[in-house]
Amino acid sequence: MPYEYDDQNIFAKILRGEIPSTPLFESEHAIAFEDIRPQRKSHLLVIPKGPYRCYDHFVQAASASEQLDFFAAVAKVAAQAGIAESAGGNGYRLITNSGPDSLQEVPHFHVHILGGEPVGPLTAS
Ligand code: AMP
Repeated sequence: MPYEYDDQNIFAKILRGEIPSTPLFESEHAIAFEDIRPQRKSHLLVIPKGPYRCYDHFVQAASASEQLDFFAAVAKVAAQAGIAESAGGNGYRLITNSGPDSLQEVPHFHVHILGGEPVGPLTAS
C-alpha cells in the first residue's frame, strides 16, 4: 500500500515555520531540534525536510542524496551534542518508530537520539 503523507503534522509545521522550534543543526535535507518532552538528559530529534511518513517510506521514496545527507546528519548531531564516543561522549541510542505497532505519534519520519546518561533496556518489557 503506498504511503500517504499528512502535511498537517507537527513536524511539517515546524519545517514551514508555523510552529516555533530552535534548530540545533541544519543540512541540505535535514534539521535537528530538541524533543519537547525529553526522555533522557539528551533527547534530540532529526527529521528530513522531505515529506516522508516513516522510515519505511523514507527508504522507499527518498533520493540517495537525501538518505545519505540524513544519516550523516544524525551522526553529526550526536557529535555536536558531545554524546558520540568520537566526540568524547559515552554513546547514544537511535530510535525510530514506524507505524501503529511502534506507537509512532508524529507521522513525519524522525530519529530520536537519546543519551547523556545510561539509556536503559532496549524495550520496556
Ligand atoms: P514518536 O512517538 O516517535 O512519533 O515521537 C514523537 C516525538 O515528538 C515525541 O517524543 C514528542 O515529545 C515529540 N514532539 C512532539 N511535538 C514536538 C514539538 N513541537 N517539538 C519537539 N518535539 C515534539
